[in-house]
Amino acid sequence: MQSLTDISAVRKLLDRHGFRFSKSLGQNFLINPAVCPKMAEACGADQNTGVLEIGPGIGVLTRELCLRGAKVVSVEIDSGLLPLLNETLAEQTNLKIIHGDAMKVDLHKLIEREFKGLRVCVCANLPYYITSPIIMRMLESRIKAESITVMVQKEAAVRLCAEPGTRECGAVTLAVRYYSQPKLLFPVSRGSFMPSPKVDSAVIQLNLRKSPPFEVKNEELLFKIIKSAFGQRRKTLVNSLTGAGFDKAAVGILLDKSDISRMSRAEELSLEQFVRIANTACGED
Ligand code: SAM
Repeated sequence: MQSLTDISAVRKLLDRHGFRFSKSLGQNFLINPAVCPKMAEACGADQNTGVLEIGPGIGVLTRELCLRGAKVVSVEIDSGLLPLLNETLAEQTNLKIIHGDAMKVDLHKLIEREFKGLRVCVCANLPYYITSPIIMRMLESRIKAESITVMVQKEAAVRLCAEPGTRECGAVTLAVRYYSQPKLLFPVSRGSFMPSPKVDSAVIQLNLRKSPPFEVKNEELLFKIIKSAFGQRRKTLVNSLTGAGFDKAAVGILLDKSDISRMSRAEELSLEQFVRIANTACGED
């Protein structure tokens, strides 16, 4: 089996296929041999698992997942990588490569069609330019999977896994907490990739909740309030929500009724406190 982490072997493979890295597609391929086994282990890939991978590249993580007996479906946008994948993964029978954009493919249909009777997880080294959009697409559409184990830039990992009520927290942190229980698994240095990016990375795992942690009367309103509050995170809530189009007097009363200080800032609030504000705004709290 050809090595997919030996730099000179990978260079030869890429040259033979006339492949050029695309920065805009976030193409940084893993060449640290320790990382993929750890990711495959963390997601629990085995014969009873269906794994959805986004962006197989030359197949370094894909092969690791296949070798554990999982049924793997990988979505790759770059048609230039398909001949390489045909070569590097020729021996893997439990694999399907789909040429497409992971932001557009119907992931629900894909999972239903490909993974009948299997526990399902997502495992990927994500292209950095769609990190939050693809994670939120999967969470908001309530993808039928147990977990999402992904490599992301370190800064994104910190934000996605931050504790609510801390400075690292953003609107995306609370959204992630609403749908899942996030965990920062391990750091990965920039030198683990070819070409090497300017920043370090980390692997995170989101264990998807079967139901939300709090009863929410209107999810759309909850996330509108969260986004508005973090949109002007340095302002007090009464000002950030007013700036986002809510009526100032009404916001003050709403915060009082929700038992939240008018002077608090978005990053000081827990998810439960945001839920309280949204439920109070629905007038039935
Ligand atoms: N999994 C490989 C690895 O770890 O070496 C490659 C990871 S690289 C960071 C990201 C991969 O995602 C590239 O192969 C890139 O072409 C692919 N990609 C970028 N945007 C995509 C999209 N919208 N849908 C599917 N694949 C995409």
